[in-house]
Amino acid sequence: MMRWVLLLLLLWAPLEAQVIVDLETKAYVENTAQAKHIVARIREYVTLMGLDGWRIYVQMRDVNTVDSGITASTSAQPQYRTAHISFYLRAFSKLAPMHQEEAYRHELFHLLVWPVGRPLTSRFKPGSEAYGFMMMLREGVVTNLARMKVWETHELRR
Ligand SMILES: [Zn+2]
Repeated sequence: MMRWVLLLLLLWAPLEAQVIVDLETKAYVENTAQAKHIVARIREYVTLMGLDGWRIYVQMRDVNTVDSGITASTSAQPQYRTAHISFYLRAFSKLAPMHQEEAYRHELFHLLVWPVGRPLTSRFKPGSEAYGFMMMLREGVVTNLARMKVWETHELRR
């Protein structure tokens, strides 16, 4: 019984959102201003999107994804309110400021959609048609949310 109480206390402990910057990559050192900017924007959207209480690890990665067009990726563990967001700086830098803003929101919306999207995709084999279809549905929802008109007013105020 005591152990469960302790476990619950541990799960409820992080009441404030923590954005933790992963210093693992040299890209962070080389692009300090850019990395700081990304983290600041993530922090602001975390508050706006009501993601307080989450522990979000932000990693700046010096991986060349320019050809594939992948600018960021996210994985989440909603039961622990923990998420990892990677920014692939070489490709991300090529985005116009407006699209960078959309990318922050896009990745953070993945946290909110995760409890629905993950069970859907995990039922199908990666690479299968059904898996691709589920991924497309998930990305469509997240993209629509990130592009809502309401965000334009927010960007104007900045
Ligand atoms: Zn996505």
